[in-house]
Amino acid sequence: MDSSDIINKIFENAIRGPRLIKNGEVLKLDYIPDNIPHRTEQLQKIAQIVAPIINKTKPSNLFIYGKTGTGKTMVTKSVINNLEKRKKDSKIVICYVNSRISGTIYRVLSEIATSLEIKIPFTGLSVSEVQKRIFEYLKENEIKLLLVLDEIDFLVNTPLKRNAGNDLLYELTRYGSYANSDSFISIIGISNDIKFREYLESRVTSSLHDEEVFFPPYSVNELKDILKERANIAFIDGAITDDVINLIAAYTGGEHGDARRAVDMLRVAAELAERENAEKIETRHVKEASENMERDKVNEAISSLPIQEKLIMFTITSLNEGENTGHIYIKYLKTCKELGIQPLTQRRISAIISELDTLGLINASLINRGRYGRSKKISLAVDKNTVIKIIKEDESLKNLKL
Ligand code: ADP
Ligand code: MG
Repeated sequence: MDSSDIINKIFENAIRGPRLIKNGEVLKLDYIPDNIPHRTEQLQKIAQIVAPIINKTKPSNLFIYGKTGTGKTMVTKSVINNLEKRKKDSKIVICYVNSRISGTIYRVLSEIATSLEIKIPFTGLSVSEVQKRIFEYLKENEIKLLLVLDEIDFLVNTPLKRNAGNDLLYELTRYGSYANSDSFISIIGISNDIKFREYLESRVTSSLHDEEVFFPPYSVNELKDILKERANIAFIDGAITDDVINLIAAYTGGEHGDARRAVDMLRVAAELAERENAEKIETRHVKEASENMERDKVNEAISSLPIQEKLIMFTITSLNEGENTGHIYIKYLKTCKELGIQPLTQRRISAIISELDTLGLINASLINRGRYGRSKKISLAVDKNTVIKIIKEDESLKNLKL
């Protein structure tokens, strides 16, 4: 094939349009299916908790938590979308804000203001001034506000944000004592970070957690059901088989049971198949999709790490079965010497190991070694060769040897 043949073939494919995917919308992450398998319990509980607002009674504050991709955002949105359709009173207002996407407390407040149709300048006002205007408006107009703060941990998850984030949450939960009985704020806080509570001051914790709903990771079989429903709507008949669905579920289910990765993998595999004009999606497309996604994920997480963190990560790739934090330190010291790098203390290394665990790059579990005290069993949570390759892209680490 010469170049013009190649180009022509690509253009012909483009003109003919997609063959396997008939409804790409369904494969997007913000698509909310009519039927949500395996989340009936959570759906019911959330609906029950917010239901009183229809009669203008204040719902309890609710805290929703669980790992990424367990359906928290989707289930909550599905409940509030329904509520939005049903409520008749314009004094009932539902406001959804994603704290991570908003980025700052000021932006969170200005989004709340916008949904109340209060005009707030982009900058120029202080946080407390914006908050005051919101509270005054709510009170004067007797508004009953259901406020969903998604990824709420982003308001408080670094020491730098902690005070201001706690202040905001405190003020929001205290609104009742400022207003009168005709107006209230109920908060649904959603967190992917199970450690969220640790970031809160005690004055905030109790009131924010009137009720709790937990979203467990999906099992492999649950993911199969979720994927099948999506696949039925997304693809033409015969484009996908059970073994493809099963493989995706096997890759993404279990301990981390993440439907986001599962749906994403389905989409990437379908696009790969589509691009090469395949008759249907095959397991090799899934394997390729999985590798691409793993590489992107590890790349993103590791390439931005500071050099000492990279070194520790590299040391962990060389661990043998049964080796623990003590072995990491010895190997790490040796590598530092070879590279002429000043080593950190064992205490700092322990902190870095915890960080890498939180990032999902390794699994660290405490083991008891009797009279030798406690130690951690460490294993990689991501592909070893990918890790090594990415770390060696760092100019100062390219000569590292295992
Ligand atoms: P979380 O907010 O817990 O991180 P999301 O609600 O964003 O997770 O869900 C991630 C992706 O997985 C979304 O695309 C969502 O549509 C899909 N998903 C999650 N749970 C289900 C389910 N029970 N049925 C169908 N799709 C689901
Ligand atoms: Mg979410």
